[in-house]
Amino acid sequence: MSETIVPWKATIMSLYPDMFPGPLGTSLAGRALEKGLWSLDTVHIRDFAQGKHRNVDDTPSGGGAGMVLRPDVIGAAIDHVTEVGDMRPRILLSPRGKPLTQEKVRSLKEAGGAILLCGRFEGVDQRVIDSRQLEEISIGDYILSGGELGAMVLMDAVVRLLPGVMGKVESGEDESFESGLLEYPHYTRPTLWEGQEIPEILTSGHHGKIAKWRKEQSIELTRLRRPDLYEIWKDGQT
Ligand code: SAH
Repeated sequence: MSETIVPWKATIMSLYPDMFPGPLGTSLAGRALEKGLWSLDTVHIRDFAQGKHRNVDDTPSGGGAGMVLRPDVIGAAIDHVTEVGDMRPRILLSPRGKPLTQEKVRSLKEAGGAILLCGRFEGVDQRVIDSRQLEEISIGDYILSGGELGAMVLMDAVVRLLPGVMGKVESGEDESFESGLLEYPHYTRPTLWEGQEIPEILTSGHHGKIAKWRKEQSIELTRLRRPDLYEIWKDGQT
């Protein structure tokens, strides 16, 4: 008996829907899309603009540079894509949001899908963020020109976790962040390359010692590169 697969369902609202699926149409995510393990719908924000000029943005109240996405247009777009009973999280990609973490990625996977609003210009009118209860998520402490690449980053991270996407289940478990630590270094053939050997322990065949070595490497790398993560991990050890 074959299990019925409920695809993880992404709905994107953007001024540049042609950017999708973009890089998510190839490789792992692309094959998963073809197999129906996830789905991707795009909605053009401009389709919800009214009037002769179909303006989606206007100048910021109170002055200042740039333009702001209008709440009436964005609100109409959100209402159009949100059917009654649709419990998917409604997310605004935003540098002011909570940083996207592997833990958040896992919870979005469990949510079965997401509605993703890609901002542009200076951002989105606060009233529609509040009234439609958009959760702001940031992909890092830098400014992109739009939310589209952020949405792709988020979806890529989720899709690779979906059942049937990655070859081996284990290949997801050892990764950086899953254990609270960064991953240990990898090696493969040739055994000798440009005068450099693979660490002897890895060719010893001694699985216990290999696991111990990898753990030590993970801890040391995390301590050096990500003292913030290291402190959290260390607190969890006692
Ligand atoms: N004026 C805003 C930046 C706007 S950038 C500020 O200073 O906070 C334009 C759009 O790009 C944003 O609305 C958002 O959707 C997207 N964006 C920019 N940086 C991002 C980031 N780090 N993470 C997620 N989305 C981002």
